[in-house]
Amino acid sequence: MILIKAFVLSGIKKIEIGERERPVPLAHEVLIRVEAVGLCGTDFKLYRGEYGDAYPLIPGHELAGTIEEVGEGVKSFQAGARVTVIPNIPCGSCSYCLEGMKNQCPNRTAVGITRDGAYADYVVVPAASVCPIGDLPAPVASFIEPLACVLRGVERVQVKAGQKVMILGTGTTAHLYAQILKGQGCDCIVVGRRQSKLSWFREHGLETVSTAQHPLEEIAKAYGEKVDVLIDAIGMPAWVEALVPVLRRGGKILVFGVAQGEICFNYFDIYRKELQILGSFSLIDKFPQAIALLRNKTVVVDHLITHQGKLTDLKKILEEGKSDDMLKFVVLLGKE
Ligand SMILES: [Zn+2]
Ligand SMILES: [Zn+2]
Repeated sequence: MILIKAFVLSGIKKIEIGERERPVPLAHEVLIRVEAVGLCGTDFKLYRGEYGDAYPLIPGHELAGTIEEVGEGVKSFQAGARVTVIPNIPCGSCSYCLEGMKNQCPNRTAVGITRDGAYADYVVVPAASVCPIGDLPAPVASFIEPLACVLRGVERVQVKAGQKVMILGTGTTAHLYAQILKGQGCDCIVVGRRQSKLSWFREHGLETVSTAQHPLEEIAKAYGEKVDVLIDAIGMPAWVEALVPVLRRGGKILVFGVAQGEICFNYFDIYRKELQILGSFSLIDKFPQAIALLRNKTVVVDHLITHQGKLTDLKKILEEGKSDDMLKFVVLLGKE
C-alpha cells in the first residue's frame, strides 16, 4: 500500500489534510501524479457548502501533472505523458449530450466536484478526460481549464473586430477575457473598483474605469449606447443592472460571473433595442484551443500567479479568505 498526501473536505467547512491510500486506475482510467492545481472560486463554494454535497471530497479541478500508471484498455496515453484533465464527465447519451451541449448534461460528474480531484499527490481520472500539454510549465497549465471556460463565453458572444466590449471585474477571469478580446481586435474597457487592480490593464493599452472614483450611474451615462458587449466577469448583478444603458442597439450581456440575485431592467428596451442576454456555464470542447493559446503565448498568465504554496497554505486561504493582492493561488504538489 502506498500512502499519499491529500486535502479532504470531510463536510461543510471541515478540512483534513492527511495520508490516504494511493488510488488505483481501473480499466480506461489513468493515475496522474499531480504537479500544480489552481484554486478556483468553486473550491470556496464547495468549502462553504454552497455547491454540491459530495463529502468527503478531494477538490481541485484546474490541474496539471504527469501520468504515472494507466489502467487496462488505455491505449492513447502512456506513463510519463504530461497532461491536464477536462473536469466535466458528461454521460454522452442524454438529449443535451447528443445535441452537443455537454456542459448541460444533467448526469454529468466532475473531477474535484462530485468525484475526487487533484488536491492530492495523485488523482485517478478517465483516460477520455485527459489532454496532453507537452512541456507547458505546470502552474501555467493549471490555467487551461479556466481559460477554456472563458473561450466558451467568447464563443457565446460572437464579437467582431472593432466592437467595444466592457468587462466588469479585475480578477483572473477579467484578465483572460481582456487578452483574448483585445487579440480579436475589440476595444476593451475594464471596470473595477481598485486602481491597483486596474493598473495592469491600463499599462497594456486598455481603457479602465474605477467605480471608486466614478459612480455606476456616471459610467452608464459616459458610455451611454457606446458598448456592444457587456461581460460580467466578476458576479456583480448590481453593476450589470446599472450599466445596461451603455449597450448599443443589438448589444449583448454575457452572464459569466457566478452570483445569486435578481436584477431588473426595462422590458421594452430588450424589445426595441434587440438586446441579448447570454449565459455561459463551464466549457465545451475548448481544451485544445486553450492549450494552444497558452503554448504560443497569445494568452499570458505568469503575472496572474501571484501566490503559490502547499496544501497547508490552501487550507489557510479557504479558512481565512484571499488576501487583497491575490489573483491566482496555485498549489504545488510533490515538492514537500
Ligand atoms: Zn474552476
Ligand atoms: Zn448527458
